[in-house]
Amino acid sequence: MEVHVQPRTRTKMFCGCAIGQLGDPPNSNVCEVCMGMPGVLPVINKAAVEACLKTALALKCEIPRHTKFDRKNYMYPDLPKGYQISQYDLPMSVNGVLELDGRQVRIRRVHLEEDTGKLIHAGDKLHKARESFVDLNRAGVPLMEIVSEPDIRSADEARDYAQALRTLLRTIGASEAEMEKGQLRAEPNISIRRYGTDDLGVKTELKNINSFRALHRAIEFEVKRQIEVVEAGGTVVQETRGWSEAEQRTFSQRSKEFAEDYRYFPEPDLPPLELDRAWIEDLRRALPELPGSRRARLISDYGLPAADAASIAADRDLADLFEAAARASGDNKRTANWVIGEVAPSGKSPTPDHLAEVVTLVATGKITRDQGREVLAESMNGGGSPSEIVAKRGLAQVSDPAAVRAAVEAVIAENPKAVQDYRAGKVRVLDFLVAQVLKRDRQIDRSLANDLLKELLS
Ligand code: ZN
Ligand code: MN
Repeated sequence: MEVHVQPRTRTKMFCGCAIGQLGDPPNSNVCEVCMGMPGVLPVINKAAVEACLKTALALKCEIPRHTKFDRKNYMYPDLPKGYQISQYDLPMSVNGVLELDGRQVRIRRVHLEEDTGKLIHAGDKLHKARESFVDLNRAGVPLMEIVSEPDIRSADEARDYAQALRTLLRTIGASEAEMEKGQLRAEPNISIRRYGTDDLGVKTELKNINSFRALHRAIEFEVKRQIEVVEAGGTVVQETRGWSEAEQRTFSQRSKEFAEDYRYFPEPDLPPLELDRAWIEDLRRALPELPGSRRARLISDYGLPAADAASIAADRDLADLFEAAARASGDNKRTANWVIGEVAPSGKSPTPDHLAEVVTLVATGKITRDQGREVLAESMNGGGSPSEIVAKRGLAQVSDPAAVRAAVEAVIAENPKAVQDYRAGKVRVLDFLVAQVLKRDRQIDRSLANDLLKELLS
């Protein structure tokens, strides 16, 4: 798998141009260097080198003493220089590993390079004259290329690998790694082999994949396609294939180039890099706890189920919040449920103490779960501490059995049709009846209402 990741930097790889935003006017973040004008010189972006080194260290790569940039030569209108500055035989780092759940995927290399521009094709079938435009805002944007060894065995594993990589990059702050924004682009190389042999077949490379879902689908399609080719007596051709989201299939784009086609040679305008070992050790020491070890610790220290631990460890802020709130509430499992069910989807963040207060208020029956949700939301919107909100709004759960029974009986009397449906086997009508009870009195506990309705209707 080849993955191109845009490191978190303010400026481009070899010039001072801003990275800019997705909707910026074409050619608004450009200069002589990234437009490929003659007579100008590139300068290496230190922040990009740092992000690449952090990524390499987090992937347990070796970092050689010497590294250099090379020119990869090819002609295309989105590449005004006629070459991409990349790294060939002396990459920034080699021989790492990414730990998946119970499996290891070896990393061959992590290197730095620059992105190309973008072509915009206009015109339509009616007006014969068609035009193409070149936008160089992306030209020269830094990219880290992360290449794995062929250790990934299925579409599922490929998706897990890409997701684990995204989590890792976000945790160490090397990239925002948002696939939808093109900050993480996965290009799987696919080959098949016969059972019982180690010989991998000819591979194809897939491009234009814009989501984890598309990654999974594209691989499944391509594996099936290759098997069909071979079983029909044909041979798989080495080529680059595009993924069509509209048609849900891969299609041939161009026959594969080989390294010699690119006439790689050392970039004469950039000095070779000799990386300061003390700097590398500082970066290594400053790495935060990595997602794999945090997930293991959430299971062992907090007793969380593996799935909960994985979803919390996937987001460093969420994991920090969980650990602090769980310590404050003393209830790990319930705190995890609130973090996963309420905090994560909200896109906001309460203080750990406020979250712990809500967990405790609901767990001890002071307020209902629904009220807890509202209190948490109000608190995250700057409404103050949960207990203040409860006091201010006069919230207190009605758990008096007589009051609950009166409300439930009234709802049963008022909704004969729904009651009939429920008794006829439409169990989902129960949700509607519970909602009616809560509508009469919002302070009634949902689960009490649910249980009593079931009892009275059975
Ligand atoms: Zn520039
Ligand atoms: Mn590349």
